Amino acid sequence: MIDDRSGDTPRHPAWAEVPDRAWNDWRWQLRERVTDLARLQSLLEVTPAEARGIVGRTSFSFAVTPYYLSLVGAPGCPVRRQAIPTDEELRVTPSELRDPLGEDAHSPVPHLTHRYPDRALLYVTHNCPVYCRHCTRSRKVGDEHSAPARGELDAAFEYLRRTPAVRDVLVSGGDPLSLSDARLAEILARLRTIDSVEVIRLCTRNPVTLPQRIDDALVEALRPFQPLYVHTHFNHPRECTPEAARALARLADAGFVLGNQMVLLRGVNDDVDTVVALNRWLLRQRCRPYYIFQCDPAEGTAHLRTPIQTGLTILDQMRGRVSGLAIPQYAVDLPGGGGKVTLVPERLVRAEPGRRTFRDAFGREFTYVEEE
Ligand code: SF4
Repeated sequence: MIDDRSGDTPRHPAWAEVPDRAWNDWRWQLRERVTDLARLQSLLEVTPAEARGIVGRTSFSFAVTPYYLSLVGAPGCPVRRQAIPTDEELRVTPSELRDPLGEDAHSPVPHLTHRYPDRALLYVTHNCPVYCRHCTRSRKVGDEHSAPARGELDAAFEYLRRTPAVRDVLVSGGDPLSLSDARLAEILARLRTIDSVEVIRLCTRNPVTLPQRIDDALVEALRPFQPLYVHTHFNHPRECTPEAARALARLADAGFVLGNQMVLLRGVNDDVDTVVALNRWLLRQRCRPYYIFQCDPAEGTAHLRTPIQTGLTILDQMRGRVSGLAIPQYAVDLPGGGGKVTLVPERLVRAEPGRRTFRDAFGREFTYVEEE
């Protein structure tokens, strides 16, 4: 049997002597995050484009945990592209939007988006361990002034209470695991007092960027709030470390249902081999590949976005090659707030009366005859 959980990721030499107890403490990892150019230059050979990206940023935060920085390789590395800004990020194209999914326009009360009848998004913090350069919410993550203080979620809870059509609440942010266990449990407990809320989903990238956060105390704090779905966000096999495997195992062992939402990113995961390797690893950790998202047109993300055809080609190449369990849905979240549409490669070749002809994964044609 493949053992994905044993061993530890090699640390960046700067942290080689840090005692394991500190290194494995998520609070230490958060305290020691790299947040400025000078510190980054002491750790990596920063390219001129990266230096310009870090210095020229306006509001979008920059932070990387020592753990995630230890996964960063040479320029072009898929982890580096996600974590370290470049000057390409400073270019905003005419089609890009500050709020690409129109979340603020569909916000009936502060800190809540309600777009689909039965689902709502609740923003509980705007902090994250690492600020992903492709983030849809780059307009507000890291901005402590836009994050809800205690009591400021009251209107959101009240809205959910008087809107029983909402059965499914996505607890998001920022990254909800940036909150303390106690604060998170308090929020989940309040959601559980609302009878109409059947399912809670926790959207977190901590298993990727700060797997140390998934400790026994967190699991115990979350355990009373089943059914709890945990959506995480792995984008590349380089992120599939023993620490990440142990974090997912802890969550799966506690009975939470795990799903992964990958974002399709140029130069990161825009080829079938990368996606297959990632999804096979995820399945071994009991985490179902749930979505491939087309990267949203947030400001400054043009260099990370791919054509939609790239996603369709990846899906087409996966069919017939890997189990359906490893094949997620490919979704485009429509700019402006239209919601998700899912896309599949076209397999219907001809539609004739009583007959449909299809192309299989290997290009061969087959006809299905419909009985009268
Ligand atoms: S963890 Fe999620 S919310 Fe935070 S920066 Fe990354 S994509 Fe955005």
